Amino acid sequence: MPLLIINHHYFREEKYNDGIYPINIDELNNEIKILKKNNWKIGNQIDMINYLNKKKEDNEKLAILTFDDGLKEQLKAVDLLLNSNVSCICFCPTMPIKEKKVLNVHKLHLLRAFNKQGYIFEQLKSNFDFKDFKINDELIKNQYRYDSLTVGRLKYYLNFIMQEQDIEKFLITLFEKSFGDENEYANKFYFNENDLIFLTKNNMLGSHAEKHKSLGQLNNKSLKNELNRSFEFIYNSTGKAPLGISYPFGGVSSVSQNIFKYVKKSGYKYGITMNRGINYINENLNVFALKRIDVNDINDWVF
Ligand SMILES: [Zn+2]
Repeated sequence: MPLLIINHHYFREEKYNDGIYPINIDELNNEIKILKKNNWKIGNQIDMINYLNKKKEDNEKLAILTFDDGLKEQLKAVDLLLNSNVSCICFCPTMPIKEKKVLNVHKLHLLRAFNKQGYIFEQLKSNFDFKDFKINDELIKNQYRYDSLTVGRLKYYLNFIMQEQDIEKFLITLFEKSFGDENEYANKFYFNENDLIFLTKNNMLGSHAEKHKSLGQLNNKSLKNELNRSFEFIYNSTGKAPLGISYPFGGVSSVSQNIFKYVKKSGYKYGITMNRGINYINENLNVFALKRIDVNDINDWVF
């Protein structure tokens, strides 16, 4: 029995040239239609847990829709799915709710979507020694398949190379220039604790770690903090432990056997990567390293 996990981020009608690639109501309806036409059952988190515990014996094809990043706008998708009698899992980073801050990754998306092309790049070049940064282009192409090499290099530099305090300062200045007060923005942009309770009641909530860091770049102490703080926040807010985690970024440099070990120890029952593919129950299936595809690639995988 195959398990196909499909990831989504933004859910809005507007389209942008850069930074934000949302799907809209029509596209989500169409996705449901395509999956059903190809005999995929769109399941909920319990269906997935049953699958992972090998409790399903029939030949059912199970599809799980996931939404990463804990964005308020995803609640519209949740509504649509519930009204269509299907489900999804929303993986939520917990720091934005706790501290009312906008994650760096989202500051970048928003700055790119709402400024002219090359804006951040220009700002970065004039503030840092970006031109001397050398990294294998293949690695960048692999990590950022949907971006040009230039944008990929920029993202890689910001996500993996720059010092944390430099990034914070750089991004907060640009962000507040374009969008005003960060705390106010975070309040509208992310789920709040009531949303977490609602999602938990519908078996739709998972963790996306604490601060959306690439877990593969952390030492064991920071890694444990990322996993445990997010777990505890969800538990304390909803009264229920999160069942699973979706790894921030989720590509090859963001996951490892060491991470899977700590994820298990922290109490999670499964983990989802961005390693592309369909999951099959067999002795090689690692429930902490589940494969997932991006919704943009759905036509390659729904057969
Ligand atoms: Zn994410």
